Amino acid sequence: MDYRNFVGGQWLETTDSTPNVNPSDISDILGYAAKAGVDQLDQAIDAAHQAAPGWAASTPQQRFDVLDFVGTELLARKAELGRLLSREEGKTLPEGIGEVARAGQIFKFFAGEALRLAGDRLASVRPGIEVDVTRFPIGVVGLITPWNFPIAIPAWKIAPALCYGNAVILKPAELVPGCAHALIEILSRSGLPEGVVNLVMGRGSQIGPRLVESAKVKAISFTGSVPTGRGIAAACGQHLKKVQLEMGGKNPMVVLDDADLAIAVEASLNGAFFSTGQRCTASSRLVVTEGIHDRFVEALAERMQALKVGNALEDGVQMGPVVDERQLQQNLSYVDIAAKQGGKVQGGERLIRDTEGFYMAPALVSETDNAMRINTEEVFGPVASVIRVKDYEEALAVANDTEFGLSAGICTTSLKHASHFKANAEAGMVMVNLPTAGVDYHVPFGGTKGSSFGSREQGRYAAEFYTSVKTAYTLP
Ligand code: ADP
Repeated sequence: MDYRNFVGGQWLETTDSTPNVNPSDISDILGYAAKAGVDQLDQAIDAAHQAAPGWAASTPQQRFDVLDFVGTELLARKAELGRLLSREEGKTLPEGIGEVARAGQIFKFFAGEALRLAGDRLASVRPGIEVDVTRFPIGVVGLITPWNFPIAIPAWKIAPALCYGNAVILKPAELVPGCAHALIEILSRSGLPEGVVNLVMGRGSQIGPRLVESAKVKAISFTGSVPTGRGIAAACGQHLKKVQLEMGGKNPMVVLDDADLAIAVEASLNGAFFSTGQRCTASSRLVVTEGIHDRFVEALAERMQALKVGNALEDGVQMGPVVDERQLQQNLSYVDIAAKQGGKVQGGERLIRDTEGFYMAPALVSETDNAMRINTEEVFGPVASVIRVKDYEEALAVANDTEFGLSAGICTTSLKHASHFKANAEAGMVMVNLPTAGVDYHVPFGGTKGSSFGSREQGRYAAEFYTSVKTAYTLP
């Protein structure tokens, strides 16, 4: 399979390509992905620039029809595309199918939103004057996405971009061209005018900066690492360009003495290790009060060690491989650093399976303190650490003592502590008796502090980023 770039309604010829490797079985090459240079990117920017005014003038019905078509097809093909996703990225088949269904639901949600775009009409403070506040599209938007949610993240950026009348250039992560290609292929048959959606695959470091700096691209929505995000924000600042960033997390899960132990263990297992821990909302710091600490660690370690790690496509596998060798080495080195700094490590070793892949046992590092590197830097793998604290007050202080602020969880049966935590956790998303990861698609997603920048993604709040506001005064 050749994954080609899609520009101005055409699939482009490609001369340079990169193999798409299955992380569960490196002998399995899914296909070869085009590697665009700046010339193809420039073509895409021009195509989007030309198409933008036409789509901005489209009716709510046209937008609904396109988005609903894509949502319906994603949902109908979730088993097939979920398999592609799991083969390409390495999350388990149920996780892959679930993610494709999520992408379909997102398109359906924004199909409905296209019909509900409203403004405000207010009475002026001056007599006889009418005031209207309306939203309008911003033009061409550049969407830069990571590998860990290869179809859901492109979906939650593309669907609102189109819903609110913008033209799109998608630059997906190099490791997951298959899902981006499949999504754009569906969009290519959705009735969209040529040039409204463009796919440009290539090295982020080569074509990314040009996408960010082009005067024709009016906004950048980025999900990825902190250093890349900071660089993009700086460049957007220079060009006075709208920017939205979703980056890392070091999400705390607080477990109090009065927690239901089974709920706390289940939520922590899910939050820390599902999707191989490769979620920016993963529970990487488990902050546990001393009365429940030993029972919690013992029960969680037992559940963690029983997780079946293996080929993402195999029945019954609960944790797939790490996405690639570089990420695996990074995970192993963090486990090593944690052990050297005094952490007690269970699991965390490389695993051998029938097929050659990037397998790793999930790791639990107990007896850590919050200043250790394992607690200050994002690992982005199946590695969680445990920090023992005295009481709720110390737990809250430790939970907030991080440069990140994406998601924060608490397991407790105390209404008082749950309410206080919801109000005082420094995070964009707070979970009570639920994993820090796993969110709804119709409400805002995003964080505070070093995790996010700009307005929120998803739900109705997405309009803030993908539109601009006009205030009109009329004297009839
Ligand atoms: P990750 O560790 O998730 O790969 P990155 O921040 O490196 O995080 O990548 C996220 C996305 O940003 C990818 O699509 C990647 O190609 C892109 N990217 C990488 N470097 C740049 C850059 N300098 N400018 C714009 N995009 C970039």
